[in-house]
Amino acid sequence: IINFNPGPAKIDPSVLLRAQAEILNFQQLGISVMEMSHRSADFAKILNGAKATLTQLLNIPENYKILFLQGGATAQFSAVPLNLLQRSPNCSADYIVTGTWSAKAVKEAQKYGKVHIVHQPLEKYSRVPEQEEFDLDPEAAYVYYCDNETVNGVEFSYVPDTGNVPLVADMSSNILSKPVDVSKFGIILAGAQKNIGCAGVTLAIIREDLVGYCMKQCPTILDYKIQIGMDSLYNTPPSYSIYLMGLVLEWIQNTGGLLSMAKKCVLKSQLVYSAINESNGFYSCAIEDGSRSRMNVTFRIDGPAGDSELENAFIEESKAANMIGLKGHRSVGGIRASLYNAVTLEETQFLVNLMMDFQRRHS
Ligand code: PLP
Repeated sequence: IINFNPGPAKIDPSVLLRAQAEILNFQQLGISVMEMSHRSADFAKILNGAKATLTQLLNIPENYKILFLQGGATAQFSAVPLNLLQRSPNCSADYIVTGTWSAKAVKEAQKYGKVHIVHQPLEKYSRVPEQEEFDLDPEAAYVYYCDNETVNGVEFSYVPDTGNVPLVADMSSNILSKPVDVSKFGIILAGAQKNIGCAGVTLAIIREDLVGYCMKQCPTILDYKIQIGMDSLYNTPPSYSIYLMGLVLEWIQNTGGLLSMAKKCVLKSQLVYSAINESNGFYSCAIEDGSRSRMNVTFRIDGPAGDSELENAFIEESKAANMIGLKGHRSVGGIRASLYNAVTLEETQFLVNLMMDFQRRHS
């Protein structure tokens, strides 16, 4: 099976085989990680190991804390405003909205304070705005954006410059697919189930000085200060998901680190975008060049509006060829190929072969 699912998504088989080998008897302890006390020294080694590998991979500076949380990136849409809004005299934050997920984050933040969208509305989320288009408030508590919009297939190719206002990034669908200068960010958030493991754990990398402004009505579980004070162990953490993330992080490290992941992501996505560009309009991608995602390639078949019959036929043919997860998100339709770190170049080539063959037979 070639797995193009948008998340939960493919995990490299070598990682799953290692988890399989260790599932009943982890490091001769006679029990599974699933059965281990989260307050034991053995689990502390797993948690600290994952933090250490992540710190090396992303070169995380000392003034940042790493948290492993529950509730998905969705819970963080609330945690961010609850923890940070009070840093602003007007209880206000700036948001950049480039797709479905950043729009959802706005809705949550509006429950707790003022939200200012810092650019003109983007028609159909077909591009990332330029830095010059931003009207930033120097008194905002933070500026929020989504580095890769999974549903729409829109990805930033630059880090927005927000001056002294901390930048909060949702990197759920492109974390660890490229080197990132962590010092440019106040907070980086990412659910694990696309690029760094299985569902259940959400990563938060938080600059220390942003902690301590939490609203008093914030649920304890979402309070960064408490989570940092308890080293992600305020309550029972998603221990197996943290273990699996640790294995994926080691796999990334052993396969060349972030530079190698970045090169591979460009090659894979270019293969698909070239097939689209060279199809004489049979395939079309609504996203402008320069904003096209390396992780989620979205396209329509037979014109920009898409022909749903042909698109369904493509999905059926892809399934018959053992390719799964290519149906576009229900809100936008069309086709979406998610090319996260674990998807190989060869697998991507299979998709491109199908695209070319399908075009020959249907155009
Ligand atoms: N942000 C992005 C960019 C996503 O792709 C997703 C899920 O697909 C989410 C947030 C929500 O994540 P979760 O379902 O883990 O809450």
